[in-house]
Amino acid sequence: MFKLFLDPGHGGKDSGATGNGLMEKNITLKICQLIRDRLQNEYEGIDILMSRTGDSYPTLPSRTEKANAWGADFYLSVHVNSGGATGFESFIYPGVGQPTTSYQNTIHQEIVKATGFYDRGKKQGDFHVLRESRMPALLTENGFIDNIEDAAKLKDPNFIEKIAKGHAQGIVKIANLKPITPKDSAG
Ligand SMILES: [Zn+2]
Repeated sequence: MFKLFLDPGHGGKDSGATGNGLMEKNITLKICQLIRDRLQNEYEGIDILMSRTGDSYPTLPSRTEKANAWGADFYLSVHVNSGGATGFESFIYPGVGQPTTSYQNTIHQEIVKATGFYDRGKKQGDFHVLRESRMPALLTENGFIDNIEDAAKLKDPNFIEKIAKGHAQGIVKIANLKPITPKDSAG
C-alpha cells in the first residue's frame, strides 16, 4: 500500500497568493481533491491522507507532523506561484538525492505534459514541508496567479483537471499503481 500525503497549500486565514480575482488556497484545495478522487476511484494499492479537506489553516509544523506520524511514503504539496512570471516549477529539498530526485523528474514531466505549461525547471528549495517531512517530498508551483494568461487557465475547470491529471499520472508511475480491475460479476 502506497501512502500518499496530499498537502493543499495555505487555507483559512492564509489565502496564499492572490491575483486576477483568484486565491491560491482555493485552487490548491481543488487540485488536491481532484488528485485524490482520480487516484482513489481508478487505482488500487493507494492510501491518501490530506493536510486539509476544507478551508482551514493547519500550521506548517502540524502538516509535517501529521504526515510523519502517519508514516507517509510520499509528501506532495501543491501551490500556485506569484511574482508576474509564467509557467510551472517544482521543488525538492537541496541535496536530498534518490529516490526524491527520480520522483521529481517523473511527476514534473507528467505535469508539464498534461498542462502544456511553460517549463521553468526542476528546482531545490529549503521549505518547511520539504525539510521537516521524513519521507520523499515534492512541492509544485502551478502557474502564476498574478499573470493574466496563467490566471485565465487557473479559472478554467478543464485546465484544473489537467493539472490534477498530471500530478496523478506522476504518482501512478512512482508508486507503480495498477488500475482497479472490474470484479467478475459471474462470480
Ligand atoms: Zn503557496
